Amino acid sequence: TNYSAAFTRATHRSQKHYERTANIIPAGATRSLNSWAPYPVYLAEAQGNQVTDIDGNTYTDFLGNYTALVHGHQHPLTMTHMHEQLTCGLSLNFATVREADLAQRIVDRLASVEMLRFTGSGTEAVMFATRLARLTNGRRLIAKMEGGFHGTHDTVSVSVRPPAAQAGDVHAPHGVPESEALSAALTGETIILPFNHERACAAILDQRHQDIAGIIVEPMLGVGGMIPPRPGFLEMLREKCDAYGIVLIFDEVITLRLGYGGGQAYFGVQPDLTTMGKIIGGGMPIGAVGGKRAIMHLLEPQGGADVYSAKTGGPKLYQGGTFTGHPLSMAAGIGTLDGLTADHIQGINRLGDDLRAELNREAQAAGLPMRVTGSGSLLHIHLSRVPIETYRDTWQVDNQKQQRFFLGMLERQHLIAQRGMVCLSTTMNPSDLTSFLDATLETARALA
Ligand code: PLP
Repeated sequence: TNYSAAFTRATHRSQKHYERTANIIPAGATRSLNSWAPYPVYLAEAQGNQVTDIDGNTYTDFLGNYTALVHGHQHPLTMTHMHEQLTCGLSLNFATVREADLAQRIVDRLASVEMLRFTGSGTEAVMFATRLARLTNGRRLIAKMEGGFHGTHDTVSVSVRPPAAQAGDVHAPHGVPESEALSAALTGETIILPFNHERACAAILDQRHQDIAGIIVEPMLGVGGMIPPRPGFLEMLREKCDAYGIVLIFDEVITLRLGYGGGQAYFGVQPDLTTMGKIIGGGMPIGAVGGKRAIMHLLEPQGGADVYSAKTGGPKLYQGGTFTGHPLSMAAGIGTLDGLTADHIQGINRLGDDLRAELNREAQAAGLPMRVTGSGSLLHIHLSRVPIETYRDTWQVDNQKQQRFFLGMLERQHLIAQRGMVCLSTTMNPSDLTSFLDATLETARALA
């Protein structure tokens, strides 16, 4: 499909750069998903909520590196902490003390997190959380949701996909690996649950609980379309996990920003384990897994007899990595969280709620096929006439039209995710939102 009519800004430098690099980096860039033209548009710098590409085009950032930048770019407090750390060196071989400063801030905020460990990314945090679940109760299966996104580890790279006939009924979703070349042993240990179908989901858990080690769920589906939980859905998961000794893992890599106490406080349900990433690193690479002391204790290499494994001749589960707890990520995270008060969170949530309501109102009044989902500062614009309440509802969206919408927004100098994800930051004021609203309606009208 030729999209060049949808995005006409000058991108000669990006094109030249792509031609030079495409033979050394597949697709010309590691983050090639963000292809705008037939080649990626390469970004040069960003400040506040303004991003500039290498041809000098500017965009207002309504994506914040896929929700990671809760304060936009170069927040003063984040940068000050990083500058201080820079004078002390980068990665220092052994433990450093600043890690505890960030850990303390997270433990203070999240009621369910008594202890935590840092990882290099959200993907890694998820990988360790699923292992911790297996270690806790000795079972094998991990249950995840239709459309749940948890990074790229094999265990969680399973979902249902259209057409609906192939995906099976919601009472028996047919999960398939999302990539080729994954380990069949790992993907075979994952079962799929239908997010927001409370009764169907409960029935599957009643049937299969004996084999299920853990359930991993985003309190609100993120990449899958910013779909909030229906009332009672998360509560049902909590009850079933308690009844059956299943470890409930909330993947809060995206939703943590919804409340001072994370999505878990915002939606009012507490998990056993939480995986985190994105905002806790303030724009630097990071991940973390935390939760109940009784579970996290399994990661103490010098722990008691219950932690030592005769099978491995060491700890039952090793967790770590060259860049885990990286001092620069810790510094950026500390500055970012210190600059993120409960008032800030409420403020951007209110802006987001108003924007979502206004967009839906205007779209309905104008008869535009557009449904805006999400909660608080997290939104998703679906070019759909039908309400979007489950992952399967997103299958009605015409992806080519959605790509044109994304390019139309860029043309109007607003940067969002290709599939329609939108995210606010504390840099935004009502006039940014007005211009976003205008750009969105104009783009949707042009496509209708
Ligand atoms: N979990 C969720 C809910 C995510 O949205 C993502 C990334 O978008 C991940 C995990 C993976 O995190 P990372 O990209 O840091 O590996």
